[in-house]
Amino acid sequence: MGLTDKIYAHLPQRGQDVAASAFGLYRHWLRSGPGYADLLRGYRDRDAWPLDRFAAYQAERLKVMLGNAADHIPYYRRSWSADEKAAARAGRLSELPLLSKDPIRSHPQDFARDDARPLLRYRFLTSGSTGTPVSTLWTAREARDARALREARSANWAGTSFSEGRATFSGRIVVPDANSDGPFHRYNGVENQVYFSAFHLSRANAGRYVEALRRHKTQWLTGYAVSYYLLARHIQDLGLDVPPLKAVVTTSEKLTAGMRTVMEQAYGCPVFEEYGTVENAVFASECAHHRLHVSPDAGVVEILRPDGSACDPDEAGEVVATGFVRQYQPFIRYRVGDVAAWDPEPCACGRPMPVLKEVIGRVEDVVVGPDGRQMVRFHGIFVGQDQVVEGQIVQEALDRIRVKIVPAAAYGPADAADIAQRVRQRLGDVSVIVEPVESIPRSANGKFKAVISHIKANG
Ligand SMILES: [Zn+2]
Repeated sequence: MGLTDKIYAHLPQRGQDVAASAFGLYRHWLRSGPGYADLLRGYRDRDAWPLDRFAAYQAERLKVMLGNAADHIPYYRRSWSADEKAAARAGRLSELPLLSKDPIRSHPQDFARDDARPLLRYRFLTSGSTGTPVSTLWTAREARDARALREARSANWAGTSFSEGRATFSGRIVVPDANSDGPFHRYNGVENQVYFSAFHLSRANAGRYVEALRRHKTQWLTGYAVSYYLLARHIQDLGLDVPPLKAVVTTSEKLTAGMRTVMEQAYGCPVFEEYGTVENAVFASECAHHRLHVSPDAGVVEILRPDGSACDPDEAGEVVATGFVRQYQPFIRYRVGDVAAWDPEPCACGRPMPVLKEVIGRVEDVVVGPDGRQMVRFHGIFVGQDQVVEGQIVQEALDRIRVKIVPAAAYGPADAADIAQRVRQRLGDVSVIVEPVESIPRSANGKFKAVISHIKANG
């Protein structure tokens, strides 16, 4: 915990509200200060560009960015061969090696340009799905660029704006006391933003969360998909009355069709998925037709086979991204850790931006059968399981799966048998332990992990 976090933890709630607003003022300046209006206009102007214009735009940006990387960024200068540097200077992305998270974790500074000394530099820690932090370095302009992108392509597409009151579920520890009896949010008056604690959400506390939305006249919700889904389940179970909302824009976790339906009913507004990484390597957002468009002016997204060749449409592969937003510490051909596929169907909204058919799951979310078969998206076993509020698969051994579930009121032995049967249907003859639990612990950043594997080392 940093010093500011320690001080924050010792403030009374009013003091934490003031701190949240002071922090909010700083973030507001950081994200919406000088240059923001131009960046926003740029994204809006490019909104309906044809693909060939985007391709030319990408080629131009790649040439500058890759050339700078070859000459001015210690890691690339050191690890790329002479041929690769030549390819970089010519803007030929596909000839460059893929980048994993490990070198970034061990030496984040090696990815920053050594010919530029920005006046102000910001460090954000992202924990990623495995909980190991990746340190990203940003300039103020890049923070503005990232906000402009989200405003134009997420909030505006969803019919709302960052200038309207919002609530956020994120990994921030907003209520430091794990045993707090509420309130479970803090309020940033500068941006009219309610920060919800992802760590205190329960059936007993759900009403307090809804009350905060009413009190602060919140217009839209954004942040962790699973937290909003859980809150929606509690709202339905308890019959809570929700104030009018314009939209929910989910981030960070996979939004399934089932989650979307429950949330649309509970919140009484449309739900949009945003797919990105905190590193800002990739950005995709849903239009009014709920298709997930990749923004080509935010970076180059590739979907690759294990041999490195590009996947065909409809073919699932690994997501590899080269983001344009962060030029100071760029991640080039970064292995995001997700599996996805391109959708060949054009979108009825008329935007030619490519569509992701589905982000199928995290590469890490792999369950391995006794015969060696690998499965992503294993949490699909909960589809249609109305008596499971949330569930987590823990692979303890090749032949042993523990399924932790938070049961709904009418849960019974037949449901447990059904879950066990579904696991065996997918993996064959394995032992399955279905364990009802009060709640499923979040990872250090408050995110929900659908699958935990203890046999990762050999995968
Ligand atoms: Zn569309």
